[in-house]
Amino acid sequence: MTDFVVENRLFDPAEALPRGELAALQAARLVETVARAQAVPFYREAFARAGVDPASVRGLDDLARLPFTVKDDMRAAYPLGLLAVPRARIARVHGSSGTTGLPTFVAYTRRDLDTWAGLVARFLTAGGLRPEHLVHVAFGYGLFTGGFGLHAGIERVGAGVVPSGGGNTPRQVLLLRDLAADALICTPSYALHLAEVVREAGLGPSDLRLRLGHFGGEPWTEELRQALERELGILAFNNYGLSEVIGPGVSGECAARRGMHVAEDHFLVECLHPETLRPVPDGEVGELCFTSLTKEAMPVIRYRTRDLAALDRSPCPCGRTGARMGRVVGRSDDMLIIRGVNVFPSQVEEALLRVEGTAPHYLIEVSRPGALDEATVKVEVRPADFSDEMRRLVALRDRIDREIQAVTGVRMTVELVAPGSIERSAGKATRVVDRRPPGAR
Ligand SMILES: [Zn+2]
Repeated sequence: MTDFVVENRLFDPAEALPRGELAALQAARLVETVARAQAVPFYREAFARAGVDPASVRGLDDLARLPFTVKDDMRAAYPLGLLAVPRARIARVHGSSGTTGLPTFVAYTRRDLDTWAGLVARFLTAGGLRPEHLVHVAFGYGLFTGGFGLHAGIERVGAGVVPSGGGNTPRQVLLLRDLAADALICTPSYALHLAEVVREAGLGPSDLRLRLGHFGGEPWTEELRQALERELGILAFNNYGLSEVIGPGVSGECAARRGMHVAEDHFLVECLHPETLRPVPDGEVGELCFTSLTKEAMPVIRYRTRDLAALDRSPCPCGRTGARMGRVVGRSDDMLIIRGVNVFPSQVEEALLRVEGTAPHYLIEVSRPGALDEATVKVEVRPADFSDEMRRLVALRDRIDREIQAVTGVRMTVELVAPGSIERSAGKATRVVDRRPPGAR
């Protein structure tokens, strides 16, 4: 564990705007956003279909009348149909990798890039990054918003960057050791892989100088945070964002680490019941929905993220006034229904992290050989345990079996596999393979 202590510091005074002033700013910016969106045929038509006259939108009470935007709308507008400014004003294009088919592109004006860098700088500062630090970025630099997005935010803080990019893990470990970076930035699953390679190289936290980790890009658990902090000797912070909204920087943790403060002066956040689409009370998990307030190139109105999390609007000791969102517990479209029970991959991860002797690299395979769903969880065993006698492996498997059933309520077949046999990814980890026919999921 690191002895590094994060002193509370704001990057931007707007993070602590009194709620009343914040609401007035949001209302004015919502009116501007609705006007800006009228340059996009998709939004003009969506407003007309919903029977909303854009000129009648005067404040935050009007938000609930506005039409939703979903990922399929973005796909249908391929490549840049949702652009609200002339092409000549595009400063950069990013994209999210579609798991199947075409990417979804997002465009930024010069001012959007400036806004974005400031938002990333906010959460990095809240999570202890200071101008004197050196930061190792192991996110890929490319269409994915992670690499360039974090890079610009680090520079905005005034810290130094090692733009390592994705892949070649042994080389990343070499850079971490020899350049002695203070902070690591990547996905949490990749950080775990890095920690393993560090250990395999016979190194430990004291051979690295890491003190901070800022992880995002995929859902992760509190148990994984503890494992990363232990293995890498860091304080680990969670951040959240998605390219459709702006990229990383939508929200991030402060030193209290009790939820991620949403940059509410730039995004209106709603937490909705995934079926009724009505707001759920604070503290209850719902689907997050964002409306951009300052974006120029591609404003989004009520974008349904499919990410499930709870909001907390109670005051935070750090003085920031933005609502805090809890960890993303799953995606409404990642949710597996196994024999009628809702299961999220994050629950399996939580169960595995309760069991000593497993590396939390896992893959859930779901099939339906007969009338019933069968779920198999492949779990990697740590090298030391893998060479162990059979009796102990059986005991380990039984323990995992019980924990998974305790957390998810579903009985799954547990298969222990050799260390390193589940494919690693520098981006988002693949956690589920669903072999059931599409109609039966
Ligand atoms: Zn706070």
